[in-house]
Amino acid sequence: MNLVDVLNSIWSQILQVTSQFVIPDWGQVIGALPVLVVLGLVAPFLTFLALGTVIYLARKPRVKVRFEEGPRVAEIGADGQPVFPVGLPHCRRDGLVYPSGTLRCERCHDDLAVVCPMCSLGRSALIDTCSNCGLVLKVRSRAVAVRASVGPRPGGAAVA
Ligand SMILES: [Zn+2]
Ligand SMILES: [Zn+2]
Repeated sequence: MNLVDVLNSIWSQILQVTSQFVIPDWGQVIGALPVLVVLGLVAPFLTFLALGTVIYLARKPRVKVRFEEGPRVAEIGADGQPVFPVGLPHCRRDGLVYPSGTLRCERCHDDLAVVCPMCSLGRSALIDTCSNCGLVLKVRSRAVAVRASVGPRPGGAAVA
């Protein structure tokens, strides 16, 4: 509903502005016709385009939940320190975040750390049970399942 209101107000503003300097002289109306066509067709088009882009960008991050292969660089927080997502193995030395199930850093070959999703306590990724709250991270079995589904699938649509 907001979208329609905005477009309506933009359109009425265009009509107002054009009527103010066009009406007195009909010769100018003919002369201004290309401008009116441009305003009437291109402006709404650009408005829709801009709105579409905004809506697309606003929706995009929500769809972007997927499993990534290999390490990725951790995002840098406001304090300049890398921010590691909870529940994912990461290397503090290199600032890399690994997919669940990874135990060692590919770069420095050190044991990875993981932050408990429940109590935010850090521990080694080798330990799957939190010593503080007892939450068990079943990252290894899930990672295996994810990797198996990524590989060549037996059957599928090709069988039918
Ligand atoms: Zn490392
Ligand atoms: Zn915990």
